[in-house]
Amino acid sequence: MTKSEQLINEDGKYFAASGRIKYYPLAIDHGYGATLVDVDGKEYIDLLSSASSQNVGHAPKRVTEAIKAQVDKFIHYTPAYMYHEPAVKLSKKLCDIAPGDFEKRVTFGLSGSDANDGVIKFARAYTGRPYIISFTNAYHGSIFGSLSMSAISLNMRKHYGPLLSGFYHIPFPDKYRGMYEQPTPNIVEEYLAPLKEMFAKYVPAEEVACIVVETIQGDGGLLEPVKGYFEALEALCHEHGILIAVDDIQQGLGRTGTWSSIDHFNFTPDLITFGKSLAGGLPMSAIVGRKEIIESLEAPAHLFTTGANRVSCEAALATIKMIEEEDLLTASSEKGNYVRQRMDQWINKYDYVGDVRGIGLSIGIDIVSDKETKTRASQEALIICNYCFEHGLVIIAVAGNVLRFQPPLVITYEQLDYALDTLEDALQALQEGRLDQYDINGQGW
Ligand code: PMP
Repeated sequence: MTKSEQLINEDGKYFAASGRIKYYPLAIDHGYGATLVDVDGKEYIDLLSSASSQNVGHAPKRVTEAIKAQVDKFIHYTPAYMYHEPAVKLSKKLCDIAPGDFEKRVTFGLSGSDANDGVIKFARAYTGRPYIISFTNAYHGSIFGSLSMSAISLNMRKHYGPLLSGFYHIPFPDKYRGMYEQPTPNIVEEYLAPLKEMFAKYVPAEEVACIVVETIQGDGGLLEPVKGYFEALEALCHEHGILIAVDDIQQGLGRTGTWSSIDHFNFTPDLITFGKSLAGGLPMSAIVGRKEIIESLEAPAHLFTTGANRVSCEAALATIKMIEEEDLLTASSEKGNYVRQRMDQWINKYDYVGDVRGIGLSIGIDIVSDKETKTRASQEALIICNYCFEHGLVIIAVAGNVLRFQPPLVITYEQLDYALDTLEDALQALQEGRLDQYDINGQGW
């Protein structure tokens, strides 16, 4: 038995099944850059970045040194009662980075989930309105508020309901498929119709506090929106005094080649949430919003004992500095363009590739069994993932059939070439019916 197998067997005796989506028998020992090394010494190229939480790569010296220096000095004192310099610096930095030409304030938490929960509190408090609208297919988190906003998996809804009241969902303006899996995407007006009907018949617009959206729906399948949707949505929100919050937890902080993914669109949210990569992989999230919205709550309405953790703050400052000094925003765009030059051709070259989409290094490859009907080929997507894993790549599928290509922004061109070659080998072999050796039972979402 390998060390990995031993460890995984032991894990199965104690670690809760609800906390891990089953994929590969990969027990990681360490990593550097975009490389992972398992406990048996085998190397992998990471195309998942720990669910986009390692944008600056694994164990970069700048970040590990900042963490070590802080740990040796002082670990934490709760911001609920006292102040510390790293939190001051980071708050200022996040206000600078976040979009919007207005005065802002920041709150800190420990996970993307709690940041999105905070959005509910601030939006309700500021507007004095109860209802929250989000999108079907969205993943906003794993605690009751952010779960109530999410609508992606029945396993996130079954057995522990009811969730919070006052939440509604509308269709995401998918640019590739239309509503209800139709092969033709809808136009902006059609995508807005369910919201308008809601306002006309069963949800008074003047009682809606906030609409929460991911600019590119991440776990929902790396879906890009149809052009003009967010602008139209913003106009509608302004008309009714509804706030807009963007969940940039997966797409933010360089993933799409800009600090915020909003920079690719022509609208300005009132609130934005960051998490995942913010502190280079240490637990940290933030809500950045208009001053008057964030100041609509008084203490202790939204605070966490270990929030703005001092070690995490130093890690975040080092992470942001690394993105700036190594120009990782440009790297994300350039490397994204580099892989897309090859990947975009796959739509014509390979039977199973229906679409390649995304911005920067946030890319989805939509695996279909029929390009006309755009029927999802989820089994085939998992087969490709398993082939890649066998050949030293870590890649998973979201929405069943969409390969999630989100490597650390520091990935080398050599590693990208290897990843592209291996994915092409998998697509070719699949097309020729040569990939029936994998047991994909129980894998994936
Ligand atoms: N929002 C988005 C867009 C996400 O992708 C995720 C994680 N997949 C979350 C929120 C939740 O973040 P966390 O797991 O850190 O609570």
